[in-house]
Amino acid sequence: MHQLIAGRRRDGSSAESFDVTDPSTGETVERVRLADASDVDAAVHAAREAFSGWSGATPAQRSAVMTRWALELEARADELAHTETRQTGKPIRLSTGFDVPGTIDNVSFFAGAARHLEGKAAGEYSADHTSYVRRESIGVVGSIAPWNYPLQMAAWKVLPAVAAGNTIVLKPAELTPLTSLIFAEAALAAGMPPGVFNVVCGAGRVAGEALMAHPDVDMVSFTGSSGVGRRVMEVAATSAGGPKRVHLELGGKAPFLVFDDADIDAAVHGAVAGALINAGQDCTAATRAYVQRPLYDAFVAGVADVMGTVVLGEPLDERTDQGPLVSRTQQERVAGFVDRARAEGAKVVRGGTVPGGVLARGAYYEPTLVVDVAQQSEIVQDEVFGPVLVVLPFDGDDEGLRLANDSPFGLAASAWTRDVVRSLRATRELRAGCVWVNDHIPIISEMPHGGYKSSGFGKDMSSYSFDEYTLVKHVMYDRTGAAQKDWHRTVFTSTDAPGEA
Ligand code: NAD
Repeated sequence: MHQLIAGRRRDGSSAESFDVTDPSTGETVERVRLADASDVDAAVHAAREAFSGWSGATPAQRSAVMTRWALELEARADELAHTETRQTGKPIRLSTGFDVPGTIDNVSFFAGAARHLEGKAAGEYSADHTSYVRRESIGVVGSIAPWNYPLQMAAWKVLPAVAAGNTIVLKPAELTPLTSLIFAEAALAAGMPPGVFNVVCGAGRVAGEALMAHPDVDMVSFTGSSGVGRRVMEVAATSAGGPKRVHLELGGKAPFLVFDDADIDAAVHGAVAGALINAGQDCTAATRAYVQRPLYDAFVAGVADVMGTVVLGEPLDERTDQGPLVSRTQQERVAGFVDRARAEGAKVVRGGTVPGGVLARGAYYEPTLVVDVAQQSEIVQDEVFGPVLVVLPFDGDDEGLRLANDSPFGLAASAWTRDVVRSLRATRELRAGCVWVNDHIPIISEMPHGGYKSSGFGKDMSSYSFDEYTLVKHVMYDRTGAAQKDWHRTVFTSTDAPGEA
């Protein structure tokens, strides 16, 4: 039973099922009876019913539940990591070392942040008035998550929303719903009232659209591709009850900019790790390396060597560095990008193939390094979402920065240099929501994550995310007690009291 509505597990009402599959073997992990619009309606109803109690709880009460939630997750950490690896194919070292502890840390952070809602100081900004700001919960949030980091993406959507007193209906990706259900069950076990956090597992076009369009959903938050993000915005703008507040975390195509004074060894290792984490299915992955001409050859040779040390294998094997992609469809998509680039004259320095032998039964793709590509080619401009790094040379700093910014996306970027002036310029001029210097990938709960340009808008994590999930109300009191205010002169010719003329 894969729907969690009003605190209870039940089956979806759709006649259709979806097999959650282990992409390393093609074996079915669990068969999910999908949700349809009636399940979405029940979940939204449950969230609406729970809203007044949860939004009326004190921040301390919400914080206490969330603190216990972190402990419940800690107790189920092994189960979470194992399930995450089974449904995505990601290496168990990544699940146990990153996805699960990162999520638990997010929960702990938001347990504290729930008690730190901020605004301007109350005061007399006009001589005749006292003003203050209230931050209020929005209502029912409909949230849609992708498959690449299913647990973490669910957490990034759900935590700021519930910490700020909203209730939520989460729709995970069809491919990877299982850890979202454990995440929600742990919240219930921690004392979160039924209906505050509901999970519907259904198809994007059915359950996803029904959720966004539901008249009783006040806000839509979405993480996924830029294409579906456009559709989300359209439905949120035009559905009954709209236009609704929208929060979009979309695709990425992060540049990795290496200046000629960079530590080449650090840049090479950073590029391989940044490109191959989660088999490259990471919205902030290093995808386009621009390397200043004097370092270009050494960088390409170094990346090819280090990529050659990456071990492909069974996801549950601790020795595995890279597992399969999430599905056969994704494997074909990635192979298609590399094959088309090759046909256009690109040189594939390493990888570019589907491995044979025992790995052939899974959706594996070799770590791949591609050079000799044009800036405007598809493999440089579009999101591949696989273990593929392209490298291009540049000459002057102006050119490097221009090429790095020449993309529709703006989620993340990195600059590699030991020169403080260059790094200051790069961090100022790179058009992305996150810029790393001499590293690429790390994230922390305290700092915001979110895009520029077609990578979306709004922030996940950090106290900034409360801006997304709260309404800001200005309250203004007259403090003079006068029947006729000074500003009435703009409307009346005389400000004398009635009868005094
Ligand atoms: P996707 O856009 O195909 O699907 C995301 C979610 O949207 C899924 O739950 C899917 O069922 C749902 N969906 C699909 N069509 C829908 C529709 N018409 N109406 C409503 N919902 C619909 O993305 P994906 O392939 O699951 O994930 C990969 C994408 O996510 C990449 O583009 C990646 O960059 C992006 N991503 C972004 C971030 C970020 O923080 N910016 C984080 C992770 C992933």
